[in-house]
Amino acid sequence: MTCIENVIDKKLCISCGFCKAYSNSDLNFKYNNDHEASIPEMAKEVNFDDDIYCPSDSIDMPKNSLFKYNVANPKSILGVYESLYAGYSNDKQVRKKAASGGIVPEVIKYLLEKKYIDYAFTSVNINSHKDSKSIIIDDPKAIKFIHGATYHSVNLSESISKIINSNMRFAFVGLPCHILALQELKQRRPEINKLNVITIGLFCGGYVKYSGYEYYFSKFLKKDEIKNITNTKYRENNYPGDIKLSFKNNTVKFLPRLSNNSRWNIVKYMITESFFKHLRCKLCPDQVNDFADIAVGDPHFSKYILNEGTSFIIARSGIGNKTIRSMSDEKRIFSEQISEQEVINSQYYLENRRYVGITLLVAKLLGIDVFNIKNYDTYSKLNKFNLYPYAFIQLLKYKLGFGLIVQYLIAYPLQIVEYLFFTGGIKKILRRIIQLLFNSKVSGNNKKDFNYWDLNK
Ligand SMILES: Cc1cc2nc3c(=O)[nH]c(=O)nc-3n(C[C@H](O)[C@H](O)[C@H](O)COP(=O)(O)OP(=O)(O)OC[C@H]3O[C@@H](n4cnc5c(N)ncnc54)[C@H](O)[C@@H]3O)c2cc1C
Ligand code: SF4
Ligand code: SF4
Repeated sequence: MTCIENVIDKKLCISCGFCKAYSNSDLNFKYNNDHEASIPEMAKEVNFDDDIYCPSDSIDMPKNSLFKYNVANPKSILGVYESLYAGYSNDKQVRKKAASGGIVPEVIKYLLEKKYIDYAFTSVNINSHKDSKSIIIDDPKAIKFIHGATYHSVNLSESISKIINSNMRFAFVGLPCHILALQELKQRRPEINKLNVITIGLFCGGYVKYSGYEYYFSKFLKKDEIKNITNTKYRENNYPGDIKLSFKNNTVKFLPRLSNNSRWNIVKYMITESFFKHLRCKLCPDQVNDFADIAVGDPHFSKYILNEGTSFIIARSGIGNKTIRSMSDEKRIFSEQISEQEVINSQYYLENRRYVGITLLVAKLLGIDVFNIKNYDTYSKLNKFNLYPYAFIQLLKYKLGFGLIVQYLIAYPLQIVEYLFFTGGIKKILRRIIQLLFNSKVSGNNKKDFNYWDLNK
């Protein structure tokens, strides 16, 4: 069995498409309803190079950190970086349409306009969830097609051949696993390393299977309506965004996510995000895109809930920081320096992700087939006992699946136990019990009330 077949067999394929770069014949990808993702079609004639790399087969964090920064073990839990910023695009249209502050599209626009790159490798979500895919952009005006965070799986395979076959300079936008896969390719193909001017990475909490969203939509829509959805956007309207559904009859509907929503709906949303999270994502060591020159995420604090979005920016490398600084000087973006603690506090899973060895150990105890991850030495300890309960409950949810018994008898009690008792003292528990009893609404505009991660904590 090839490593790719093994990955598919273990349901760990995240559709990054990079195995295409190592295939000796044309490798096709097809949406698979069981995996709820596009996976490679393993026809008889498909052969791979011996040095093939798949990010769901093995991960070596120290090796990649050495390659990128000449440092095997980053000092900070945020990874190696030069500067930290909160910022947003000064183009009002870009900021309005973006998931966060529009930093990703503004950087692409800037680099294309300045002719520092010939094209950007990024992705679109304009058709059904089965068709979300990578695209190549060489016109700055095309950034209007790429806004928004796509939480269901995206198939990157379509544009991989551009990276392998072209000799043009490019920027690459992706999730941490995508940037890792690109970086491994760059270590094997120095010519690609030369052409890749910059990588722009998103923070990533993980992909969620679309059937999970359908389960959440059932709170608001009839079965027929769900069948007629033609496109799903997850971060529309005011920050941090509602879900926008488009239908066959050309109508649209907005559904609340974590703000402007009742407590019980939010519990259902949490069930969606955790029971339906992709297995590879539950085992992922990288939330803040360690190997991207510029990594961006959401500032999940009331301070930044201003109706317009803002991004947290980790400028990791010299070129990443220089780009952010030049764009600020030229007033393309607004940026201000922020503290390390602010970024750390904004990412709920960060410590669990860093200490991935604990997750892998719990997975093994639960009989879940994992893969090989070499972690940074600093985060290889297994004696962080406070991290075990979260790892256990997340993997237990995977193990349980979502059959009728789990759906009707187990999911809510388990989610509520997690919501009430996992973090916070007695005061927080009591406050949450009252909020659940009264099904109080979480408002996106009431700054006192809203703290995105506080809902999960
Ligand atoms: C799966 C996923 C998980 C996330 N988890 C976290 C998290 O844990 N913490 C956090 O702070 N933020 C998270 N984010 C949000 C992320 O921080 C924002 O999407 C990011 O800040 C970009 O916002 P923007 O306003 O700069 O760009 P926008 O204008 O919204 O443009 C988004 C850019 O990201 C690309 N993109 C969107 N979805 C994907 C995808 N699935 N794969 C590859 N590229 C994509 C688009 O092609 C576009 O280039 C997540 C996003 C995704 C897609
Ligand atoms: S390289 Fe990417 S697309 Fe190919 S099997 Fe691995 S995860 Fe899936
Ligand atoms: S959580 Fe990890 S594996 Fe999952 S999509 Fe994000 S970066 Fe990729």
